[in-house]
Amino acid sequence: MRRSTLCGLMLATSAGLGAQDRDARIAKAAEALRPRLVETRRDFHRHPELSNQEERTSRIVAERLRALGLEVKTGVGKFGVVALLKGGKPGPVVAYRADMDALPITEVHEVPYKSQNVGVMHACGHDAHTTVGLGIAEVLAGMKAELHGTVKFIFQPAEEGAPGNEEGGAALMIKEGVMENPKIDAIFGLHTNAGLPVGTMSLKAGPMLASVDTWVLTVRGKMAHGGAAPHQGIDAVLVSAECIEALQTIRSRRIDPLQPMVLSVGTIHGGIRDNIIAEEVRMEGTLRTLDPDVRARAKGLMKEILDGVTAAHGARYELSYRANTAYPVTVNDAALVTATLPTLARVLGPQLVPGPTVMGAEDFSFFQERAPGAYLWLGVANPAKGFTSGAHTAVFDLDEEALVVGVRTMCSVLADNLEHRP
Ligand SMILES: [Zn+2]
Ligand SMILES: [Zn+2]
Repeated sequence: MRRSTLCGLMLATSAGLGAQDRDARIAKAAEALRPRLVETRRDFHRHPELSNQEERTSRIVAERLRALGLEVKTGVGKFGVVALLKGGKPGPVVAYRADMDALPITEVHEVPYKSQNVGVMHACGHDAHTTVGLGIAEVLAGMKAELHGTVKFIFQPAEEGAPGNEEGGAALMIKEGVMENPKIDAIFGLHTNAGLPVGTMSLKAGPMLASVDTWVLTVRGKMAHGGAAPHQGIDAVLVSAECIEALQTIRSRRIDPLQPMVLSVGTIHGGIRDNIIAEEVRMEGTLRTLDPDVRARAKGLMKEILDGVTAAHGARYELSYRANTAYPVTVNDAALVTATLPTLARVLGPQLVPGPTVMGAEDFSFFQERAPGAYLWLGVANPAKGFTSGAHTAVFDLDEEALVVGVRTMCSVLADNLEHRP
């Protein structure tokens, strides 16, 4: 008993030493990449591209991966790039996903790397995600003989949502087979977080980002003279006002207060003139939850409430959900998180910090529906350098020191996971 415990301890220690040696080599390689990472991120930042238009970014990514000797496939889910790095030893397939698209925001910061594509900006840090992905590929390509199994790199377009009725993002890449050939056993990804200090990262099991459903509601009434004969019409404006109020009772009175949920009406347009009873009002909104059951119940309650309110006034309605921006809850796999935390603790030490669950959404969740997945936060805030603004704003920027941290940490995570998959 005693002997076997000692034996186990010695094995664990030698494995630990091996991992620490590999961490040190990874850290050195990542450090050496620093200027190249900064240059790469700034290049992507200068040339942001909207969802499903990532032609330049995709081309550069594919070129860089080919130059590293990876097997590269382009055109997966429009501008998606998939690359295989095959290790010298047998083992599983572990994927790393980076998103590449930017947002329709005009950058206002006067930085040397300011967006040259006016009206488009990397305001969500996807330039950093893509750069970190390329950095990981470069470091791991340099040590592929000792890797167990295969790293599958997924450079994904249109995370922010494909425009109009276009397909895109993770869902389209999955539809076009990204999870197969070879089949992915586990998948990792990260997102910059402007609420966490640069140098830190975080990972936790369970829900991390919300589900999102974008809905469009049209309330239909009947036109009439708004001054002389309102009783001859059905006022779509008045009915809409009741609908909006009643929809808020889902959050306040129908769903358990301990269950996070947000329902917001973001736009409302209707009517044609001050003295005409409006025939039609159109609204758009978002529904966010952290639980699939709450999501389904909230959608059911929306229908129930709209049925009742419109019927009470003789009005009608149509409610639809945009299929290409409906994302599930981002849920980190408990076993994968448990297996990954020791690596993070070893590499990051006290810089491994608790991270928030947020009501933003991520289409990384589609990958997690098909393979155990873990999504990490990468801290990018640095008040001393003025990096404090949140994502999706015209002044968002990040401390580029985070690039090295992301590459170093994720290389160790991937190498460890390939070697010791649970
Ligand atoms: Zn975003
Ligand atoms: Zn994002």
